[in-house]
Amino acid sequence: MEGNIHQVFWTILRHGINRPRLALRAVLACLALAAFSAAACASEEEGAGRNDDKLLVVTTLYPLEYFAKRVGGDLVDVVNLVGPGVEAHDFEPSTGDMRLMSKADLVIYNGLGFEPWMDRAISSLNDPDLAVVELGLALAERSEASDPHFWLDPLLAREQVSAIGEALSAAAPSHATEFRRNAEAAVADLDVLHDEFMVGLNGCELSTFVTSHAAFGHLAARYSLDQVSVSGLTPEAEPSPAKLAQLTRDIRSTGVKYVMTETMSTRGLPETIAAEIEVEVLTLHPLESLTPNQSSEGETYLDIMRENLTSLRTALECP
Ligand SMILES: [Zn+2]
Repeated sequence: MEGNIHQVFWTILRHGINRPRLALRAVLACLALAAFSAAACASEEEGAGRNDDKLLVVTTLYPLEYFAKRVGGDLVDVVNLVGPGVEAHDFEPSTGDMRLMSKADLVIYNGLGFEPWMDRAISSLNDPDLAVVELGLALAERSEASDPHFWLDPLLAREQVSAIGEALSAAAPSHATEFRRNAEAAVADLDVLHDEFMVGLNGCELSTFVTSHAAFGHLAARYSLDQVSVSGLTPEAEPSPAKLAQLTRDIRSTGVKYVMTETMSTRGLPETIAAEIEVEVLTLHPLESLTPNQSSEGETYLDIMRENLTSLRTALECP
């Protein structure tokens, strides 16, 4: 936790603690966006209708949006750049996204390569007052892994929530008490979720599960499971035909009766392998962005994590 707080302050020191200064920000946005689009400055003051009493927080994937909303409550407007149905690993910011970031009081991103476009975006905005928090660095230093999917382990997610609480408190110190109280409530929910995973994954027949891309390494490590992934750390990192054939043989030898697939962005490989070894397919959602259905039905991080637990319990033949 201490490392997270240091990281928050380090990033805020690096980029400065900002205050809403929309006029200057509009100018900066135009300068920055000139490289992206000739029409970039045609529609300035996009956020003119916003309530300036609220902090504008921009996030880069669904769990960070959810956590920021939980912690910020009524005191923040959170806008997630990667909307429902968009593959987060493939995302590139539009000129509108750049404009939004230029107006943000706080930009929260995961880091560790999850948003490879972010350094270029920050550089393009060239705003010394832009407050940016990269949540992954402090977690990565401790976990000794290059896997950016921290939010899929409830206890690492808990640290992301606490870091967001510290970042919001630094951005609006007068509301620090409320942010910290909200963060504590969200952390308590994650503790309950962790307990459910501990109990639910106890005494299972199998410990190996097969996923689409390698998003569940932190979750597997937390609950002493083994993840076998069809693709690499991103959905695009697909195996060669020879490697796929070997992988299929390896998966067959594990004795799994299910192959987990995602609700979007699968390239059909999990389904192909499942058909080849004659096992069924189950959904395990990496939560990088919601599906349009999940969004319209108001499903949250906690709901989908519990659905993931149900799928894992089936796949691992838990009692
Ligand atoms: Zn991923």
